[in-house]
Amino acid sequence: MAESAVRIGLVLPDVMGTYGDGGNALVLRQRLRMRGIDAEIVEITLNDPVPESLDIYTLGGAEDSAQRLATRHLQRYPGLQRAAAKGVPVLAICAAIQVLGNWYQTSAGERVDGVGLFDVTTSPQRVRAIGEVATNPVLAGLTQPLTGFENHRGGTTLGPDATGLGRVTKGVGNGVGDGSEGVVQGSVIGTYMHGPALARNPELADHLLMRALGVTELAPLDLPEVDRLRRERLRA
Ligand code: GLN
Repeated sequence: MAESAVRIGLVLPDVMGTYGDGGNALVLRQRLRMRGIDAEIVEITLNDPVPESLDIYTLGGAEDSAQRLATRHLQRYPGLQRAAAKGVPVLAICAAIQVLGNWYQTSAGERVDGVGLFDVTTSPQRVRAIGEVATNPVLAGLTQPLTGFENHRGGTTLGPDATGLGRVTKGVGNGVGDGSEGVVQGSVIGTYMHGPALARNPELADHLLMRALGVTELAPLDLPEVDRLRRERLRA
């Protein structure tokens, strides 16, 4: 039986994607291919409308001005919002958390309306958060510590419809004093972790893939270099 490839949306890599965040799409594709599942990456740039038909979406971080362009594009072409409403998994890194929220304030103090997929708001904090960040996951199904690199001025406040992804054990995370890092709302997951996040957190990658495939289990992958990277980074 011929099955069509899993289509991974890499959303606006031309304006969002600092610290190798585009690698998250590569990790998803590779973890599928290693299991014999055909997969392809679909790049959606500022020249393209955002399709609602993909199986999974990833968005990366950005500077303030670039994230404004991305916000406008996602509002103009609401394919991502339509996909999320159907329960399609979305991974949003750093600035993408802010863009997908209700509103965010830039470092210059300007308030920008967001896409509204996350019940969160973001405002600049006194001190920029830069460095390694580690958390214990609170998202059901995740058991292993999460690790990444953060660099953001914005601090994100969770509203009643959003929950954190993890509880900070090292670093700053959402940065508003509640000890949370990242956001989960329905099938949309956000984190301040660059790295790229999915290379450093394979359990999170498989969580997103299981949701995309509609399965509750995936064959384990034996990747000693990933285990070594995790051990090294969790000590950093
Ligand atoms: N511009 C945003 C901030 O400083 C996000 C930065 C990023 O994505 N690395 O909060």
